[in-house]
Amino acid sequence: MELTRKERECLVIISGLDSPFPSRLIDVARKANIKPPTAYNLVKRLSRKGLIEERKGAIIVTARGKEEYSEIIRAHRCIETLLSRAGLDKDYACKEAQKIDYMLSEKDVKYLLKFLGNPKNCPHGRPIVV
Ligand SMILES: [Zn+2]
Repeated sequence: MELTRKERECLVIISGLDSPFPSRLIDVARKANIKPPTAYNLVKRLSRKGLIEERKGAIIVTARGKEEYSEIIRAHRCIETLLSRAGLDKDYACKEAQKIDYMLSEKDVKYLLKFLGNPKNCPHGRPIVV
């Protein structure tokens, strides 16, 4: 799915707000360090793309959104692994990976993972789930 960088960040933040309570706009704005109206616009855009739903002020990630999120995370950890194997620091690799992880196709990620020998974890030790 075509996402902008801001939409990608917003989806990752909403998906990562792992609390027993549903996320609210103010939590998203705070976590993303953006103003509530900006968060509101991003939430509306993600909602139009079917990735999240708003129910009585609560923001819920849809099944499609969860799928998109896991694709981004898989691509992210794949690129991190590639960059860190090339000799770059793992935290720098993480920052760089954020710039492109949401743009890679599933097919490209699959090829890259194969090329890397199907790594089980990223350089931070987090799982790469295929
Ligand atoms: Zn990592």
